[in-house]
Amino acid sequence: MNPPPGDALAAPWWDATRERRLLVQTCGACGHRQHHPRLLCTNCGGTDALGWTPCAGTGTVDSFTVVHRSPEPERQVPYVVARVRLTEGPILLTNLVGIEVDDSILGAGVVLAWSPLPDGRNLPVFTLATEA
Ligand SMILES: [Zn+2]
Repeated sequence: MNPPPGDALAAPWWDATRERRLLVQTCGACGHRQHHPRLLCTNCGGTDALGWTPCAGTGTVDSFTVVHRSPEPERQVPYVVARVRLTEGPILLTNLVGIEVDDSILGAGVVLAWSPLPDGRNLPVFTLATEA
């Protein structure tokens, strides 16, 4: 899988993945957190105070789908595409790895893992949180 090269707006986000740090964009004016990075806060419209907050790397499965036929021939199927609601609030479109897929994963707790990319960046993926 080849994610798009980071544009200027997303560059700090991608740079952080080199150190395996997951960030969400945060508005210093109203406290709103959002993903993907945008030029303005989707809550208050502010543009001046956008910064970054490191994520704990936890969340819950908001929805998911199992892909059985990949648009990229070199990619192994099936794989799981999921919307994960981060503990910090924003939704991240991601992959779930290392799990048995059934409907019980809806709403399940997940934790961050990292999938290395050839260029040194890392892709945030998630796996089921183990019960304490
Ligand atoms: Zn705001």
